[in-house]
Amino acid sequence: MSRDEKFLVVAFGGNAFQTKGEKGTPEDYWRNAYRSAEFLIKIIEEGYKIAITHGNGPQVGIIAEWMMAGLKMKNLPPMTLDIAGAMTQGWLGYLIQQSLYNKLLEKGLLGTKVKGVVTVVTQVLVNKDDPAFQNPTKYIGPWYEEAEAKKIAEELGWVMKPDPRGGWRRVVPSPDPIGPIEIDAIKKLVEEGFIVIASGGGGIPVIKQDSALKGVEAVIDKDLAGERLATALGAGTLLILTDVEKVYLNYGTPQQKPLDVMTVSEAEKYYKEGHFKPGSMGPKVLAGIRFVKNGGKQAIIGHLFKAYEALKGESGTRIIPD
Ligand code: ADP
Ligand code: MG
Repeated sequence: MSRDEKFLVVAFGGNAFQTKGEKGTPEDYWRNAYRSAEFLIKIIEEGYKIAITHGNGPQVGIIAEWMMAGLKMKNLPPMTLDIAGAMTQGWLGYLIQQSLYNKLLEKGLLGTKVKGVVTVVTQVLVNKDDPAFQNPTKYIGPWYEEAEAKKIAEELGWVMKPDPRGGWRRVVPSPDPIGPIEIDAIKKLVEEGFIVIASGGGGIPVIKQDSALKGVEAVIDKDLAGERLATALGAGTLLILTDVEKVYLNYGTPQQKPLDVMTVSEAEKYYKEGHFKPGSMGPKVLAGIRFVKNGGKQAIIGHLFKAYEALKGESGTRIIPD
């Protein structure tokens, strides 16, 4: 299959919506969404075709806080995590849809280069026998004292563990994504000229029981899910935007060294040597490795503010075939 380098899947990290130190007001969200839309416009003007995915860690945490407050004050039953994931797809999808629509309109690109912007509520299949279900590792939501945590665990059937950063928190599994259920619809929309936002927050995790789908209480890593989306769409480039300009070896030590480019084999070697932290840079590099091994032309990891430069090869770290 020939892959078009100018067809890219852009994966937005947390800083696309909420920047460190911000309160996270609606105004903050809109300002950040418009800023992210500006970067996309520059890319679209260069003739790139894009699909978008994004993370949702902070937003799932916020929804969990709201639900726990609702339970405490009004005895409102909390929703399950798959439903919370669906909420974040609507929340962030809407922000991107409207900000990008308005920017495209302003630039005269709407109805010409791009037909429209649309979010697809995306379920992502995971294996019900994924070992992650036996070993939940992902901390989400508010922090509690031990006694309260144990009470909640009993009442709601949640797994609560002490957080290395202090206090007790809910932990949930993070299974490996297989792929988006709605891929055929997403493909059609992309082919028709729509910019699609899909697999938001890594997608809503679902398992198959016989042939039927069922949501599970888990979260999927957005970079790994982004790779599945990009590969299924046949994109040429996977562009992962985060809050560092490059991937480093020996990150956070006096010997740290930024990388401009890694072949897949080099990336695998560094990955095994433990240069990329689990839960942050680890899944991004793994997503890049998988993408290229699955036939993608290149994966680029770079800073949100340098998205355009990263595509031009003037910033970011590239993962390329051997
Ligand atoms: P995002 O919301 O974009 O997914 P993450 O916090 O999950 O952001 O991942 C980006 C973070 O990864 C950086 O802020 C950096 O602190 C961390 N990181 C861990 N290992 C590395 C590495 N080897 N090189 C660069 N950054 C790294
Ligand atoms: Mg992350």
